[in-house]
Amino acid sequence: MEKFETNYGLLSIRNRILIFSVLVTLIPSFGMGWLLNSMIHTTITEKIEQKLLYSGNIIEREISLWFKQRNYDLHILSNSFIISENLAGYLNTDNKKKQEASSPPIYTKKIATYLDSVQKQFDDYSRLFVLDNEGQIVAASEPMDMEQAIQLPTDRTEQIAATNSFKGDVYFTGKDSSPLILIGIPLFSEKRDNLGFLAAEVRLEGILPLLQAALFNNGKEAPLCAALVHLKDGSHFLSTGHSTDPVTPQNISTTIRQLFDSPPHLQSFSDYHGTHVVGLAMALNTSGWGLLITEKYVDVFAKVTRSRNRNILIICSFALLMGVVAYLFAKQIITPLTALTNGSLLVANGNLNVCLPIHKNDELGLATRMFNEMVAELKQNHAKLEQLATTDSLTQLANRKEIMRKLCQHFEHYQRYATEFSILMIDIDHFKKINDTYGHLAGDAVLRQLAMIFQETLRNVDMAGRYGGEEFLVILAETSGEKAQHTGERIRQAVERHTFIYDNNPLKITISIGIARILEEEKNENSLVSRADQALYRAKGNGRNQVVYIASPVTPLAS
Ligand code: GH3
Ligand code: MG
Ligand code: MG
Repeated sequence: MEKFETNYGLLSIRNRILIFSVLVTLIPSFGMGWLLNSMIHTTITEKIEQKLLYSGNIIEREISLWFKQRNYDLHILSNSFIISENLAGYLNTDNKKKQEASSPPIYTKKIATYLDSVQKQFDDYSRLFVLDNEGQIVAASEPMDMEQAIQLPTDRTEQIAATNSFKGDVYFTGKDSSPLILIGIPLFSEKRDNLGFLAAEVRLEGILPLLQAALFNNGKEAPLCAALVHLKDGSHFLSTGHSTDPVTPQNISTTIRQLFDSPPHLQSFSDYHGTHVVGLAMALNTSGWGLLITEKYVDVFAKVTRSRNRNILIICSFALLMGVVAYLFAKQIITPLTALTNGSLLVANGNLNVCLPIHKNDELGLATRMFNEMVAELKQNHAKLEQLATTDSLTQLANRKEIMRKLCQHFEHYQRYATEFSILMIDIDHFKKINDTYGHLAGDAVLRQLAMIFQETLRNVDMAGRYGGEEFLVILAETSGEKAQHTGERIRQAVERHTFIYDNNPLKITISIGIARILEEEKNENSLVSRADQALYRAKGNGRNQVVYIASPVTPLAS
């Protein structure tokens, strides 16, 4: 018998439905989710870029105004006659007297006192100086080494021509935590002679509140960070960030330096302290200064991340739900299909006692019903065939093959359980005459009616079969030889009494019966049959219409 494969693994219909459903859910959902996410991402990027650009422009304007204010302050100061008169007086003093360190000229002292009083009024000024044209200190707001020269920017002449003021580079001193810058304006005599400069060392921390104010977003504090940066190396000197870790120019990534090379637009990068940020970099019109405004990446895209996570959760739940639905749906198909498959396998293995339950009145229900009907028909045909193969068509008794098979079974049962039984070999007396006198059809009718007499006289456990033309073999289960004799006699008398009818003609017949009982020494069922045959032979020889029982094995007749 061919072996049928029933394990289909991934290719089973159930798994294919499951995979299909999950894919059908996942692909469009993830596609839509991705599209939605990238749309939100783009919108947020545009919004944040606008916000940062807006803040950057405000900061640039505020810084410019702040410097203008400082210049204005210096101009007001420079108008003081204390400075102009005393500076003129100082410059007119000859150099020899100037160098008398023990008694500083009265002029410079007056200027210094004035500068000191002004400096005390304004936090933004770290120190104030009056310098000569070479940058030599004439007077300072705090006691200083007057020999010392202040480093003036080399391009001060151009700066003064353009803005009537100058600014130097940003620097730090050990004394002040704030970054400092030197700004100055030229001082002129009444005749417009250049006398020197009024310069202020300004604390740039004064710009911080402006930066913070510009970062306020609709009255709310935005989590932004603004840093003022040296364009030459990308290092920052003033920042609204809280981190105070020192950042040396060497530590600054080339990415930050390169940010200033392109026009300001939103970029994502790691800031000075390695935090992933989005931000934009713009070069300010204050020469050499850049502005870097950043916001933490996680803060900006927290909404996107949240929405992405929520989408993934929804999609996964949806896929799970679809999986369950598909599983239940697949089960509705698989259960009857599996039943059909198992039923077919049983039928293929020869079991025709299969009747599958019909759960639903759908296509599978119809297929199951048809399967059941086919199996029932097969069973019927099988039974018919079996009957044809085992039954004698004329008498409807067991045919010779079947009665011999039964006899073999009884013999085997006797060998195992010693259940005795007997057999009758029955032959119609002078049957030839019936045929000769009334024809073969009459003979057939007699054979049929005789079979009916056997059926009526025998018990259910007994069995009669047609052994040959007009010879019959009867097996009497659990019957001794003596009892078999009685049964044989009863049958013989019943036949003798019976009037057979053919074509409305009454016919009378007799039968001869040979009986044999199973014996311990029996080698096989054939010896039993042969003993019954011999008994029948004796019955015929003794004049027919009688029953002969041979109780013991017969010694072969001497020839
Ligand atoms: P005996 O008493 O010695 O048994 O004589 P008999 O005539 O019965 O025996 P014989 O063996 O000489 O004849 C048997 C006859 O049975 C021959 C045959 O035509 C007939 N016969 C066998 N089978 C059938 C059958 O199926 N139908 C009919 N009508 N006759 C059959
Ligand atoms: Mg015969
Ligand atoms: Mg006969």
